[in-house]
Amino acid sequence: MARAIVRGISVSTGFAIGKAVFVNRRHHAEVPRQSIGLSLVEPEEARLRQAFSDVEGDLASARDRIPAELAEHRHILESHLMILKDPKLCGAAAKHIRDLGVNAEWALEKAVAELEKAFGQLDDLYIRERLQDVRVMSDRVMARLLGTVRTELAVEGRVIIMAHDLTPADTVMLEVGKIMGFATAQGGKTSHTGIMARTLGIPALVGAGELEELVGDGDLVILDGVGGRVLVDPDEDELAEFNELADQFEDYQRRIYRGCQLPAETIDGYRVQVLANIELIEEVAAVLDNGGEGIGLYRTEYSYLNRLDLPGEDELADKYSDLAAIMSPRKVIFRTLDLGADKFITSFGALDEANPAMGLRAIRFCMQHPELFKTQLKAIARASAYGNVSIMFPMISGLREVRRAKAKLREAQEELRAEGKRFNADMPVGIMIELPAAVMIASMLAEEVDFFSIGTNDLIQYSLGIDRTNAHVSYLYQPLHPAVLRSIKHVVDAAHQAGIEASLCGEVASDPFCVPILMGMQIDCISLSPQAIPGIKRIIRQARMSECKSLLRDVLACRTVGKINRLVRDTIFHKYPEELNFFASLLDNDDLGG
Ligand code: PEP
Ligand code: MG
Repeated sequence: MARAIVRGISVSTGFAIGKAVFVNRRHHAEVPRQSIGLSLVEPEEARLRQAFSDVEGDLASARDRIPAELAEHRHILESHLMILKDPKLCGAAAKHIRDLGVNAEWALEKAVAELEKAFGQLDDLYIRERLQDVRVMSDRVMARLLGTVRTELAVEGRVIIMAHDLTPADTVMLEVGKIMGFATAQGGKTSHTGIMARTLGIPALVGAGELEELVGDGDLVILDGVGGRVLVDPDEDELAEFNELADQFEDYQRRIYRGCQLPAETIDGYRVQVLANIELIEEVAAVLDNGGEGIGLYRTEYSYLNRLDLPGEDELADKYSDLAAIMSPRKVIFRTLDLGADKFITSFGALDEANPAMGLRAIRFCMQHPELFKTQLKAIARASAYGNVSIMFPMISGLREVRRAKAKLREAQEELRAEGKRFNADMPVGIMIELPAAVMIASMLAEEVDFFSIGTNDLIQYSLGIDRTNAHVSYLYQPLHPAVLRSIKHVVDAAHQAGIEASLCGEVASDPFCVPILMGMQIDCISLSPQAIPGIKRIIRQARMSECKSLLRDVLACRTVGKINRLVRDTIFHKYPEELNFFASLLDNDDLGG
């Protein structure tokens, strides 16, 4: 028997067996505060500067060997290096050591707090985001001072990364070639760690609350990305069992991969478009390799995060046009900026919002920053001249919001026309349905746009009132809740009545337990992470529309999520035993109640 088993939420499937290495643990909850004598001021200041320079060295070397898969993140490191060199941080902390006679940790904490106080009140979200980068960097320096963090993988061989939490900045610091899997104490089902892990094709677990207490650096662990657990110090039998499972998993992946270029068509001839969700343009190769028929959701936030300047129109237009041209004639749907909430800026809390998920995010943020929005709209419109480009707006709550967003797009197009720049005036315009309000007025919204894309990650969050990034309420994240299913169906029906396309791009689209139900609703298109496409296409190809419709009828007749889970589990396991062996489902395995 393993010495301990830590449970968490699987966000990327597969198995890994190897050594656990912590890149960060919850640290410096208590910053030591000491007054120091005059004779210690100089050595203390030197210790501070050394910690800054050590972190700078770590970052510079990570930047120089950044792997191709994560090249788009290089600017994160550049911006962090600039923060380390900025006298407002190191200089201010050093001054506190000299003027106040305090230790380096205290001085650093004070310098950061002052910066947060000075800039945190400003109404400029951009500056407040930069403050979060300052916090990331000061945390690293603090960890150096305290000697509590390992920032480099100075280990032999490949390892399983453990962390309190992983931000994109943490991830790019790692040598991806050495990573077999991730496990973090924090995070929910749709957090960033999962997205990165799926991009890299490795298993990952989040919300494993006991990780930091039960796993030691260097422990041998099994990361079970199917069952959602970490086995610490496994015995011989467990090792043999999981080695066997890992082999079977590889076999299975090879098999599903073979059919992934075939169309997603049921036995009785119903065709679903299967598109991909991407965060980085580098993922295009994975989309095409895995049989993606286009891009159903390009999350454009990444080009904006973790850099000191904002991308300009030409930079974005070049990038977007490249994507449109590479994918042409396949579809590419650009989602306009969805900054805020969980989009990687919450972890340091610099945003002064009690409820960021319900705060200034997505379309609301863009409307308050019209110049930034227009720059992106012009860039997307320019890309429309190079391929099959659509645009969609996130977090739409009402008619006025769509109309105003569309008016902004028209303004951007008018400017392009005046500048003599090319664009497709008929570019389809869609919206994401992520709020219960949008569900309720779907038939009205359908008259304003060319398509809907249902964002279930947020729709579930707002419908069930659970923070998608909060591990404590993760057990309530139930895609098969009767309210969620009725919402999705209502939106699909409203779209069809208005003669527009209904698509779904939340994580539900990669859940084999959910996809047959979506098909029963006659969803036109699903969009999911590239790595999940082969398995889902295989499920669709083995399905019959008649069975999906009857499953939908049965599911809608159930009154509790527990009943639906049981029904779906039994029906789908029965039909696809092989597919589901290795599937880490959104459907909760432990809790069939409710
Ligand atoms: C969603 O909310 O379902 C979605 C696809 O968007 P994101 O995960 O980027 O919020
Ligand atoms: Mg969303």
